[in-house]
Amino acid sequence: CPTSGMCVTCVEGCIGMCEIGKSAYRGHEVIYPQPFGIITTASQKAYPVDLAHFNIMGTAVGAAGIEADSDKAIFPNVDLETRLGHDKGIKLRLPIVIPGLGSTNIASQNWEGLAIGSAIAGTPLTIGENVCGMDVESKIENGRVVHSTDLERRVKLYQEWQRDGYGAIVVQANVEDGRLGVLEYAIEKLGVEVVELKWGQGAKDIGGEVKVKSLEKAQLLKRRGYVVLPDPLDPARVEEFGKGVFTEFERHSRVGMVNEEDFLESVSQLRKAGAKYISLKTGAYRPADLARAVKFSSMAKIDYLTIDAAGGGTGMSPWRMMNEWGV
Ligand code: SF4
Repeated sequence: CPTSGMCVTCVEGCIGMCEIGKSAYRGHEVIYPQPFGIITTASQKAYPVDLAHFNIMGTAVGAAGIEADSDKAIFPNVDLETRLGHDKGIKLRLPIVIPGLGSTNIASQNWEGLAIGSAIAGTPLTIGENVCGMDVESKIENGRVVHSTDLERRVKLYQEWQRDGYGAIVVQANVEDGRLGVLEYAIEKLGVEVVELKWGQGAKDIGGEVKVKSLEKAQLLKRRGYVVLPDPLDPARVEEFGKGVFTEFERHSRVGMVNEEDFLESVSQLRKAGAKYISLKTGAYRPADLARAVKFSSMAKIDYLTIDAAGGGTGMSPWRMMNEWGV
C-alpha cells in the first residue's frame, strides 16, 4: 500500500521484510539504507511533483542553436557546450554538473571512473563533504588540514585527465570541513579553482551518518571534531566495545545554521583565499529557503547555485528523508 508501506494484509508469522517490520525488530539500525558503503539509494515515493513531470516540447518549425537549414541541422553538428561563472570561465562540453560525492566508500572506490569519465566528458565533478576529515592519512595542524592523501588523489586524477580546459574539479565544504579549512587547503595547495558552500548536511537537515567499525578510527574522528556515538573516548564505552556489547560507532556531521551575515562573510573569505568561482548547494528545503538561497546567492554574486533533490544519494541519508522530505 503506497500510503502505509504495508502489505494489504499483514499476516502473522511474516518475517517482516517491509520497512515497518524491519524497524520493529532492528530499530535504529534500519534508519539508513543497507548494506552501507556499496550502494547508492533511491526513494520509491511518488512525489506530488517531480522532475519526471517535465517533458521537452519540441517544434516542427525553425531551429535553436543552429541555422534552420536541413543540411546544417544534422546530428553531428549538435553542440551542447555551455559556460558557467561570472566571467563564463567554466567551460562545459555538456550542460551537466555532477554534484557532491563525498567520503563514502561508494564514491571513493569508484573515483577513477567518476573522475576520468567526467574529465574526458568535460563536465564539472564535485568532491563532497568530509573527505579530509575521514582520511586517516590527513595531517591536521592547529585544527587545520595541511595534507590529505584522499583529497589530493581525487583532485589530481581529475586534473590529469582534463582536456582543453573543459570541466572543473569542485570541492565542497560542510560545517566540519569549514572548521578544518578544507577549501583553503584545496585552493592553496591543490590548485582548485571552484569551491562550493553547502546548506545543511547532505543538503538535508540530517547528521550524515557513517558507520565506523574500528575503535581507533572512531577515536581519531572524535578528536577531529566529529560527533561520534557512542563516545569512543569514554573508558566505559571502550570496555563495552572490547567485550562486543556493540560492534560499530556512528559518525555524524553537524547541520549548519544559515544566516545572511555569515554567508556573505564566508564567500568573501574564500575569494580572499583565492577561489576563482564559488557555488552554493542547497537542499529541498521549504520555498522560503529556496528564495533565501537565490537572494543570498545574488547578494554575494556567487557563480552558480545547485538545488538538490531529496530522493536519493550515496547511502548517508535516512530512508525517512528520502521518502518524506522536500517536494
Ligand atoms: S510484516 Fe510482512 S505481511 Fe506485514 S506488512 Fe510487513 S512484509 Fe507485509
